[in-house]
Amino acid sequence: MRPSSGRVIVIGAGPVGLCLALALAQQDVPVTLIEALGEDNFLEQVPRAGTNHPATLEMYDRIGLYEKLEPRGIIAPVFHYWDRAGNALIAAFDHVHLKDDTKFPYVLQCERIKIVEEALKMAKAHPGIDLRLSSTFTGFSQTASGVTAQFTDPAGEAETVAGAYIVSAEGARSIVRKELDIEFEGFTYSDLVLNIEVAYDFRRHGYAERNYISDPKEWSNLFHWKGPPDRWRVHFPTAPAEDESALTRPQALQARLQRFLPTGRDFDIVASNLYTVHQRVAKKFRAGRAILAGDSAHVNSPIGAMGMNSGVHDAFNLADKLVKVLRREADDGVLDRYERQRRHVAVQHTQAQTIRNKRLLAEKDPAVRRQNHDELRRTAEDPKLARAFLLRSSLIESLREAEQIA
Ligand SMILES: Cc1cc2nc3c(=O)[nH]c(=O)nc-3n(C[C@H](O)[C@H](O)[C@H](O)COP(=O)(O)OP(=O)(O)OC[C@H]3O[C@@H](n4cnc5c(N)ncnc54)[C@H](O)[C@@H]3O)c2cc1C
Repeated sequence: MRPSSGRVIVIGAGPVGLCLALALAQQDVPVTLIEALGEDNFLEQVPRAGTNHPATLEMYDRIGLYEKLEPRGIIAPVFHYWDRAGNALIAAFDHVHLKDDTKFPYVLQCERIKIVEEALKMAKAHPGIDLRLSSTFTGFSQTASGVTAQFTDPAGEAETVAGAYIVSAEGARSIVRKELDIEFEGFTYSDLVLNIEVAYDFRRHGYAERNYISDPKEWSNLFHWKGPPDRWRVHFPTAPAEDESALTRPQALQARLQRFLPTGRDFDIVASNLYTVHQRVAKKFRAGRAILAGDSAHVNSPIGAMGMNSGVHDAFNLADKLVKVLRREADDGVLDRYERQRRHVAVQHTQAQTIRNKRLLAEKDPAVRRQNHDELRRTAEDPKLARAFLLRSSLIESLREAEQIA
């Protein structure tokens, strides 16, 4: 039986939930968007994703979000691989090689918090989105014809909302995934990653806006974000047994930065935090009328900037299919195609590449390191190889491959 209401209930106003809600509402599908954070604390989220690949920019553009983000971000056509041990630039990759593949031959360095801030403003202004802030989703039930989501409202009262489908964009701790008892297959790295945000212009030392730095002892990533104040984010690995509070003491942070770049003067540290890195993919992305998207379906290391990007790609893929199902232009079997396409991308692209990226940066064997660096150099210098590399690293290849999946 077809549901009487074509409403989609989206849990979580992160980048994935907001993009999905906007893409659906702009195609006249009514949405209820439930978010635990409220007006008072929505902007107090820890720093996370921020590199937006070309294909993701095309999707933001489709819903009118790109024009709001571009002025708040940094257009970065080039990214670097560095050898920290040898203090040398290994390779510079220029997205100009993708000029015939995308309208946006660059990444936009624009942090997740700015993306959700702008997208939330758009969601608030859209009459088709019933936005419930300060509302914590607690569980759901489904029948053959619809779903009911339970949540606590801002006053702490239990409430329910009914719809045709529920999409979990709640992040890695998805209640929907747990209630459906869907296994989150994969592993968690034993070491935490230390993130330090610094107000210092690393470009004066030759770095690009986005840098992957290999080192047998202490690999790192270095990314530039637009201020004020302009900030750079440096990621460092930590040892599994290290004391967490000792790692983030101001002297320890300064010492680590001075080892990385000895300036002899204290760095202006804006913020720091530690995070755990998981490499996991849900065994299923759909069970009846409940669907997983973004971090609730897959999580990965941030090396390569693929988590949020691939989550946003889930959102747009799913929106197009839900619209067709709700307009009765397609059978709900197309939602299984969503799972086949996006699970394939999560396993074969996002997981495979991020695991490989970490190995590449942390490689200890000098002969393998030399070989890796030679290959990167050769690839960056040959326009054909560079384009193929960039199609993969920017996830365009993953989208093209998914299109071939029936
Ligand atoms: C340090 C770091 C750097 C990263 N860098 C990058 C990068 O450069 N590029 C990239 O692509 N990815 C990156 N990632 C990954 C990226 O942040 C995530 O993949 C992305 O945020 C996932 O988006 P999401 O919308 O699925 O989930 P989330 O961003 O986790 O959003 C989930 C939302 O759901 C809400 N919520 C949760 N539970 C409930 C509930 N019970 N009821 C109501 N609401 C709820 C939360 O408050 C939140 O607003 C990085 C991650 C980290 C940790």
